[in-house]
Amino acid sequence: MILSIDDLPPRLAASLSPEEKVFIDDIEGRGLLPFAVTHHFASLAGPEQNDPIRRQFIPDPREALPDPHALDDPLGEALYRKTPRLIHQYKDRALLLAGGLCAGYCRHCFRRKRQAAPQSFITGAELPPVCAYLKDHPEIKELLVSGGDPLTAANDELDRLFTGLREARPDLLLRLCTRAPVTAPERLTDGETPGELRELLLRHRPLRAAIHLNHPRELAEKTRRGLETWAAAGIPILVQTVLLRGINDNAETLAELFRECAGLGFRPYYLFQLDLAPGTAHFRVPLRQGLHLYDELKKQVPKAALPVYAVDLPGGGGKIALNDDSIAGEKTEKGRQQLLLRGPDGRLWPYPAA
Ligand code: SF4
Repeated sequence: MILSIDDLPPRLAASLSPEEKVFIDDIEGRGLLPFAVTHHFASLAGPEQNDPIRRQFIPDPREALPDPHALDDPLGEALYRKTPRLIHQYKDRALLLAGGLCAGYCRHCFRRKRQAAPQSFITGAELPPVCAYLKDHPEIKELLVSGGDPLTAANDELDRLFTGLREARPDLLLRLCTRAPVTAPERLTDGETPGELRELLLRHRPLRAAIHLNHPRELAEKTRRGLETWAAAGIPILVQTVLLRGINDNAETLAELFRECAGLGFRPYYLFQLDLAPGTAHFRVPLRQGLHLYDELKKQVPKAALPVYAVDLPGGGGKIALNDDSIAGEKTEKGRQQLLLRGPDGRLWPYPAA
């Protein structure tokens, strides 16, 4: 893991501007999302300031700019927290914040407050209340196991977690949400045997993996090969992508990504409009532009390779699929232009127009 700019590959270290260096040196002192990147992910980056991989891990001084739209809890998860680790917002699925660490920090992360003070992997004492809740709520059919990144835990810790969940709810569909196959693909073959993690996941089926993947260049050979072996063994692979300004905000890049994923047997699942986390406004693609881009994308990829364009309504309104009918109106508040998005319950939720 690279935790300091002194440890970056020389061509990346040489590419840092004086402003970037000063900002990165002081980033933890400012209480912002720390800097950390794996050797693998750094190796995928080019030295240009606008390189789409570089921009995802090199902190940008714009992260410190005030954003009037930003929310500390962009998804309003606190409203639905049932135990310190469990969020239950939708009737048929819940979210487990299992692992506090990540293999590296994505500058667009919406859990950045949490990542600035990461929690350990879920402990033996924290699991029983989660299991009790799941037993009491059979209407929950799927559990998203997220974090941080659960794959930063060792195989035996993952096994302990999945065993506990399985004992509580043998029928529960597990969705392992991870970016490690992209940032640290060696994790896929970690363990006493190269297939140990895959076998572990197969033991705890029904289970599918949701991979956070934003750009075709993230599909490195090790990532493709590792995930292909999972898919071939019977672990469905879903792909979740965040729409990011200057990184993947054009239909050609996204079409290439989703076509390649579909060709590998992975299912493009969600294309997410950016959540309103502090320090990420420079990554935000205006929502109307996102809708236009999605229309272009529809012309370039077959339906089977087209993810759902979606947004989590800021502050806890829930996830909605985005289309022209999602925008019910506009308003100006304190000089700021807001779109009004129709929530699942018919309520209107503001989202910045730009
Ligand atoms: S891997 Fe996910 S949780 Fe971790 S920093 Fe990236 S986006 Fe955030």
